[in-house]
Amino acid sequence: MATSTTISYTANLLKYMALDQKGNAMAEYIWIDSTGGTRSKSKTLTKVPESGIFKPEDLPEWNFDGSSTGQAPGDNSDVYLRPVAVFPDPFRGAPNILVITECWDPDGTPNKYNYRHECARLMEAHKEHKPWFGLEQEYTLLDMLDKPYGWPVGGFPGPQGPYYCGVGAGKVYCRDIVEAHYKACLFAGVKISGTNAEVMPAQWEFQVGPCEGIELGDHLWLARFLLHRIAEEFGAKISFHPKPIPGDWNGAGLHSNFSSEEMRKPGGMKYIEAAIKKLEGRHKEHIAVYGEDNTMRLTGRHETGSIDAFTYGVANRGCSIRIPRECGHKGYGYFEDRRPASNADPYQVTGIMMETIYGSVET
Ligand code: ADP
Ligand code: MN
Ligand code: MN
Ligand code: MN
Ligand code: MN
Repeated sequence: MATSTTISYTANLLKYMALDQKGNAMAEYIWIDSTGGTRSKSKTLTKVPESGIFKPEDLPEWNFDGSSTGQAPGDNSDVYLRPVAVFPDPFRGAPNILVITECWDPDGTPNKYNYRHECARLMEAHKEHKPWFGLEQEYTLLDMLDKPYGWPVGGFPGPQGPYYCGVGAGKVYCRDIVEAHYKACLFAGVKISGTNAEVMPAQWEFQVGPCEGIELGDHLWLARFLLHRIAEEFGAKISFHPKPIPGDWNGAGLHSNFSSEEMRKPGGMKYIEAAIKKLEGRHKEHIAVYGEDNTMRLTGRHETGSIDAFTYGVANRGCSIRIPRECGHKGYGYFEDRRPASNADPYQVTGIMMETIYGSVET
């Protein structure tokens, strides 16, 4: 599936990967740009802690040229990178690390596209509820012509039906990328909970969670970075567009499952219902941060609710909010917000859920 150029490049790289680093570690600093893409650059760390474990507070702040990423004007272009989460690097191996960073402006305020800062404040303020999130990240694999991988040139595959959780040639595409990504996530310590092939051919899903608080956004962004980075090696593009192919083809979402400690205990349904009532009152505010082009996806068809109406129900996949059948039956557990689009920012999604359910935080 990759071109011969990329295959030989990867094989040639192997002998260099085995070279001694002479006590240095390579840190890949990762940030989120103005379009929801991930960017990264590498830094040499000349000392490795005795434990071999780097903590964010041990790592130096860094910077980048924000005018090249749409994150700063050309005449004041420095944007600062503050390390906030560290993961083992599955590409370079130990002692090398991947570092999630927050973007900060020179005046000491969060960069316009730093959604993590506000999210972390909300998580801290409401941490006594022990908020758990599990997000289902759907995505589409594209070839270099921006066509879904494996689709015929100038035409369409057969109608949806055989592809969801499919097994076999002609039913699923790029399983090698999905497998590589799953392994890389486990190696890095991402709390990935599973993967499945989706309803549209060349569309897949992975789930992250349950994670408590800010951890969900950090783990999901790292999983997105790993996916882009791995697909790069295989010569495929990752699209997080919520409706990559118009017409009778499923869109892509970021279903967001939520529970608090109260909701997870017997009798928890009353807390779930109270949360849903609050979400109903702020439908428009949620839709505003639930991803670009979500109007193309939330049509009320293809297992979605309409973008204009807030609805909920047990086991109903045509609603805004679904209470899983088992939770409805037991009377406690969690609920699923099906509205977020695949390109939504998990910091914004989990942040606004906390704000709506438990209240905003003073600045
Ligand atoms: P679906 O049936 O909607 O396809 P998935 O199995 O794909 O659901 O994803 C469910 C997600 O919900 C997983 O990420 C899982 O970790 C998460 N989850 C399970 N229990 C809870 C809970 N109590 N609170 C929050 N998230 C949960
Ligand atoms: Mn330079
Ligand atoms: Mn799912
Ligand atoms: Mn799905
Ligand atoms: Mn779901």
